This record gives sequence, C-alpha cells and structure tokens, in this order.
Amino acid sequence: MRWLRRSADREPDPDLDLGEGAARAREPMDEARRRMVRDQIEARGLRDPELLRAFAVVPRHRFVDSPDPYGDQALPIRDGQTISQPYVVATMTDAARPPGGWLGARVLEIGTGSGYQAAVLAELGAELTTVERYPELSRRAGERLREAGYDDVELVVGDGTQGVPEGAPYDVILVTAAGPSVPKPLLKQLNSDGGRLVMPVGSRTHQWLTVVVRRGDEFVARQREPVVFVPLIGEHGFDE
Ligand code: SAM
Repeated sequence: MRWLRRSADREPDPDLDLGEGAARAREPMDEARRRMVRDQIEARGLRDPELLRAFAVVPRHRFVDSPDPYGDQALPIRDGQTISQPYVVATMTDAARPPGGWLGARVLEIGTGSGYQAAVLAELGAELTTVERYPELSRRAGERLREAGYDDVELVVGDGTQGVPEGAPYDVILVTAAGPSVPKPLLKQLNSDGGRLVMPVGSRTHQWLTVVVRRGDEFVARQREPVVFVPLIGEHGFDE
C-alpha cells in the first residue's frame, strides 16, 4: 500500500498496485475514496493491506445516493434503512476475517441493504450469499453489484435470522443489523472448525459488536465495541 503513505502528494499514482480491481479503481471519486481509506480507516488503526485495498477499490458512490458518499457518516438508503459509515463496515469486515483468508471463503451476509458491504466481501474474494428482507432493496443492490462487476454474489430475499441452510456451513456469517441475541439457526450454520460470526447484539437502540468463534460444539463470544445499527427484524430477531 505504498500510495497510502504519500500524504504530501494526493495525485493518483499511475503505478498503484490495486491488483485485479485496478480498472474499477480508476473511476471518478478515486481521490475521495483514497482519503476515506487513509483518514477514516487506516488512521483509526485498521492496517490489513488486503482490507485497505478492497476499500480503496470498491466504488461506494455507486451504492448510495448522496452528494458525499465517502464521508465519515452513515447514510440513508431506502425503506427506512441505512448504510453504516465506512469505518464501521471496515471494522466488521476486519473482525470477520477468516483464519485462512478471504479467498474462496464461504460467507453469508444478513442485511444486503445497499449492497456495499457485499461488494467489499466479493472484492476480497469471498464466495458470498447475502439475504435482505425488503425485495426492492435486494433488487437494487443486485443491479448495483452487477454494474460494479460483482456478478457472482448470490442474493436471497427473506428472513435472514433463519440463515440459508442450503449453503451451510459458512466460514463467516456477517449480520449487518442488530438483534437481541445471536439467532440459533445462524450458529448452527457456522463452520464447526473456526467459523466466525460478527453481529451487533443488544437493544434496539444500543448494541455491542460481538464476535462468535465456533470450535466443534463450543461457541466463544467476545464483545468488541459499542455500535448502533438498525434492528434485525425476524423470527429470531426483534418484532416488527
Ligand atoms: N450491509 C448493508 C450495506 O452494505 O448497505 C447495510 C445493512 S443495513 C444497516 C441493515 C439491513 O438489514 C437493512 O437493509 C434491513 O432491511 C436488513 N434486515 C433487517 N432484518 C433482516 C432480516 N431478518 N433478514 C434480512 N435482512 C434484514
């Protein structure tokens, strides 16, 4: 990530090593995206080069309708839902990193929303299924993912608190809405050999970002930091 250290020179570097995502990186708003990575993500302590590269490549502006798509804030999408601020998306992604790396990892995301987090996971090389309860949000996210070149993401409409048993076991389950507890079906669908689940758990208004690691039938949960997410609505979540 040589370019991240070029604080005095903000011009795009023609030799940027962005790997396969390079074509997408040379889109409008490259500079805003680089600033986002440097000032919001790297400066707050996230240093995994693979993670930083993915955030430097994925065109967030294609997934949100906002004059400031790279700003340090959550943004409204539709159906009363929001997309988290970039740093929160990065923190969750970092917390979910499978021990064997992202490439080819089986990943289930609950809460497709805009599709941005899904694009980040696809950019990292995950084999991704993402579930959304609002059909129109899922349809639009699918369109945006395809337009941005992420054709292989599987989109499912339904109650994500049930998981998607057909695709189990998952190396990673990332829940991007807040529940009162971790839904049991999701724990069952986690890979028993080190599968990781990341989810905000708490009340409707305040939660802790919680990481659960499964080894056999043992689940070890750790709370990382306080967060605020929209509620996970469903049979194993909050009531509507
Ligand atoms: N990951 C999204 C992104 O990158 O834009 C942001 C997700 S937003 C914070 C939470 C999403 O979870 C909303 O789109 C909401 O409709 C969805 N959601 C809430 N309960 C759900 C459930 N039971 N199953 C699937 N999606 C759910």
